[in-house]
Parts: sequence; C-alpha cells; structure tokens
Amino acid sequence: MKEWNVLLKQEWKKVTIMAVAALLLAASIILQGYLFVTVVDQVFIDGAGFSAVTMSMLFLLLVLWLRTGVSDVIARTGVRLGTRAKLSMRTMLLGKMAKSPVKDAGQQQSGKRISVFMDAVEETDSYFSGYVPQVIQSSLVPLVLFIAITVTHLNSGLIILATSPFIPLFYIIIGLKTKEKSEEKIEEMNALSGSFLDILQGLTTLKLFRKAKEQKENIRTSSIRFRDATMDVLKTAFVSSLMLELISMLSIGLIALEIALQLIIFENMDFFTAFFILILAPEFYNFLKQLGFAFHTGRQSMGAASKVFDEINREEDTITWGEEPLSISHPPRISLSNATYRYGEGEFELGPVNVEISPGKSIAIAGRTGSGKSTLLHVISGLLPLSEGEVCVEGKPLSSYQEEEWMKHLSYISQHPFIFSGTLKDNIIIGSDHSQSEEEITKAVEQAGLSELVGELEHGLETLVGEGGRGLSGGEKQRLALARAFLKRAPVVLLDEPTTGLDLKTERILKASLERMSEQATVITVAHRLHTIREADEIVFLEHGKVAGQGSHAELLQAVDEYRAMTTLSGGGEST
Ligand code: ATP
Ligand code: MG
Repeated sequence: MKEWNVLLKQEWKKVTIMAVAALLLAASIILQGYLFVTVVDQVFIDGAGFSAVTMSMLFLLLVLWLRTGVSDVIARTGVRLGTRAKLSMRTMLLGKMAKSPVKDAGQQQSGKRISVFMDAVEETDSYFSGYVPQVIQSSLVPLVLFIAITVTHLNSGLIILATSPFIPLFYIIIGLKTKEKSEEKIEEMNALSGSFLDILQGLTTLKLFRKAKEQKENIRTSSIRFRDATMDVLKTAFVSSLMLELISMLSIGLIALEIALQLIIFENMDFFTAFFILILAPEFYNFLKQLGFAFHTGRQSMGAASKVFDEINREEDTITWGEEPLSISHPPRISLSNATYRYGEGEFELGPVNVEISPGKSIAIAGRTGSGKSTLLHVISGLLPLSEGEVCVEGKPLSSYQEEEWMKHLSYISQHPFIFSGTLKDNIIIGSDHSQSEEEITKAVEQAGLSELVGELEHGLETLVGEGGRGLSGGEKQRLALARAFLKRAPVVLLDEPTTGLDLKTERILKASLERMSEQATVITVAHRLHTIREADEIVFLEHGKVAGQGSHAELLQAVDEYRAMTTLSGGGEST
C-alpha cells in the first residue's frame, strides 16, 4: 500500500506529535502507578496519617490530569490526520473522475462511483484516526512499561516476554481474514448503491415496462448480501476480541500467581514492588489488546482503501495536456489528420478522419444514427483521447495546449446537456467565468429562443430547474445549453444539433443567432436536419465510423450512394 504511506509521510508532523505524546503517556502511567502504590503503602502498611500523603495525592491528581491530556492530544491528532487523508483521497478521486468523464460514464454505474467516493473513503477514516494512533501508542507505551516492570522485578518481565507475542500473532492471523471479508463487504455495498441509483433513475421506464416489482426483489437480494457480508465482518470482530481478552487475562493471572508465590510463600518480595507490578501489568496488556482491536478496524479500512486506490490507479487512456498557453480572439483553424478513436478492443471505431476546418466556413457532420457523429465531436472537444492521428488547433496539436486554456475557448452544446439543480440563470451563466450583466443574460436567452418560455414562467430566470425543480423538455434543455454558449462567446463552438423538432418561429430565431455566432467562431455542427446539412459549405458524411464522403451537398449527392439514400429517404423532411 504505497499511496497510503505517502499520505502518512506528508503528515509526519502529526505522527511525531503522537509519538511524543505516547512517550509522555507511558511516563504518566508509570508515575501514576508509583504514586498510587506509595499512598496505599504508606496508609495501609506504615499506618501513616492523611497529612503525610497529601503531597503524593496532589501529585497523583496532577499525573492523572497529564495522562488524560496527552491521550486527548493523541486522539485529536488522529482525527485531524483522518480528515486530511480523506480530503486528499477525495481530491485524487475527483481529479481521476474528471479526467475521462465521457468514457467513465459508459463504463461504471454512477451509484457505484458515488459509493466509492463517499462510503469507501469514509471507511478509511478509522485507519488514520484509530489504527495509526493506536499503533504508535501500542508500540511505545508497552515497551516503556516492559522496561519499568523488568527493572523492578525480572521474573515478571520474563513472563511478559513469553506471553505477549501471542497477542500480535493472533491478530495478524485474524486481520488477514478480516481484510478479505471487508473487501467483500465494500464490494457488496458498491453493488447495492450502484443498482439502487440505477433503479431510482430509471423508475419511470421500469414502471412503463411493469418491471418495478422485479427490481424491488433485486434490491432485496442486494441488501441481504450486504447484510451477510457485514455480519461476517462483525463475527470475526467478536471472536477476535474474545480471544484477545482471554489471552491477556490468562497472562495477567500468571503474573499475579507468580507474585503471590513470591510474596506469601517465598517471602522474598515486598508489598510495594508486588503492588506496583500488579498495577502496571494490566496496563501493559491493555495497550497490546487495544492494538488488536485497532488492527481489526485498520484492516477493515485497508479493504476500503484498496477499493479507493484501485479507482485512483485505474489505467485509463486520457489526454496528457501540455503547457502551451492558448490565446485566440478570432475563430481558429482546426484540422484533423488521420484522427482515429476506439472505445475499446473490438468496440466502435471512428476514423481515420481527415478534415480542414477553416474559419468562416460552415462544417456539418452528417450520418445515420450510431455512425459516430457525437464521438467525433467528443474527440474534437478533447474529452476523448485519440488512438491515432492528430487534432490541430492553429497548426499545433490540441494536446500541446493547457487543458484549462482550451476549455476556456470552447463551447460544446452536447446532445444531452446536463441541467444542474438551481435557477435557470445559474444554469446559463455556468459557462462564462466573468460576471455578466442582466442585459447580456437576457440577450443570450433571446438568441437561444428561450424568451417565450422565460416570459411565461412566474419567476422568470429565477425559476428552479434540474433535480428538485421544474422539468424542461429535451428541446428546452438544448436551447438552454445554447444560451450558455451565446453568453460564453467562445471562438470554437461544437454543436450537436437538436433532434427534437422546433416550431418555425424558434427555428428562425436560432438560425439567425447561429449565423451570427459563426461570424465570430469556428462552428462545427452535427447536423440532424436536412436543411442544416444542405446549407453547410462542407459536409463530412460518416458511415459506421468511417468517412464515406466529403464535400458539398451537391457533390455528395452525385458521388455517394448512401448519402443520396439517406437524404432522399427522409423525403426532404426535417430530420435524417
Ligand atoms: P446519434 O445520431 O444517434 O446521436 P451518433 O452518430 O452521434 O448517433 P455516437 O454517439 O457517436 O453516434 O456513437 C457511435 C457508436 O459508438 C455507437 O455505435 C455507440 O453504440 C458507440 N458508443 C458510444 N459510446 C460508447 C462507449 N462509451 N463505449 C463503447 N461504445 C460506445
Ligand atoms: Mg449523437
């Protein structure tokens, strides 16, 4: 577990604080024992009065206070260590998830990812806040106590030396089993979260297909499996604590027996020493035992952590972005040479695509459904890494630029824009990083053909949308995404055209706005509607991911049979 130790190394200061506090703790335990035994010895054996022991009693109080104080310091530092570790793990996870959002979305259930992000990370807490502090205490305190006991009475030290290895030995055996079991448990929890969110999101569909009841059964089996896995983990926990108690009890008994023999039968030991040892021995075993419990939770956390780090270390072909700044105020030149993308071994393959996109020229990507149009836009946007070939912006490979810089210059109106829960206005201004005046926002709304909708709403732009708010139709969502783009005014615009039909008036508004946009930006459109295709200066026609033709509408009609079939079959209708 390398990453783990890196996290600990970064926090070496906290670890040092805990070690120093542990040494102080050991000292206070010995002092406490010494003072307590002194008081008892003086009062009961020597028959001293209260005034003779007042000083010792006051000291004892002070030592007790010190012991509580340092224990508190250790606990607090542990909790802070845990918080820091969780924060850095979540940051790493988020970074990882943001790296390949398109591909990830197709590969993993959202619920599963949320579960790793929330629950699995949370589960690692006890490693840092419980296990690490305990390991530090349990390796330092018993060592000091052992030395103190051995110096006072050699025989007791020898008994401790002989019995104590059984405790760590035992929890190593148990711990190995627990890690396996808790990995299973996290696996079950992820599965449960994954299918639960899936079912929740698809409830409408399931209801329409009368499958809601069946899915309830699925959830039931998933939860039962999760329960069984949890019970398994708990079972080992209980058995191991029982065994630990047993071992330490027997050991303390052994020491007590030996001391009793020396004190009463052989009479070669005084009361003070005997009592002192009898007070320190349980403390010694207590710390070892607590290490056993901590070891159990630590192992459980390790199970969770390996899930977290599996996710962080998952091999992924992502774009490695460069350092080149990008500053373009005019529409840039974009060219694709041999651009190829493969979703995976034996899966859909796009390309090779070769196309020169000069500013001022309208480019349309056309093709049947599933031919790879959206995939091509993902590739141009830098959301998917190329398998071969290159996308160049202003003559330089896209990946040589800084990711942030490129995204700043890009507007991508995807086929399924995401609407965040919040107001319409929040959703529109999300793309632009400078503050926008009311007029600019209203203008963007107008250009996107949304004024009518906004006008009809009681709260206008302040209407809540997204989850927990008012619903939006597919067409409205896309126009909202367009409003984002109009406001952002980026020099590169990728548009996955709405497939939903628009009324004539809205259509006209949009057409005019897009034409104006293309004067200030390089616009690449995935065209679904025939007249957008027809009007484009250049059409890239895709068939099964390959470029089947390239040119103007007239040229393609002449040269490519499939193109003719597609455009005439739809009978001049609005959509391909
Ligand atoms: P439409 O007109 O319906 O929007 P499209 O031309 O935009 O279709 P794409 O979304 O680019 O089609 O998909 C092209 C092909 O890639 C499809 O066959 C699809 O099944 C496949 N595909 C899409 N996403 C993934 C993914 N994450 N993993 C594997 N294959 C995928
Ligand atoms: Mg598409």
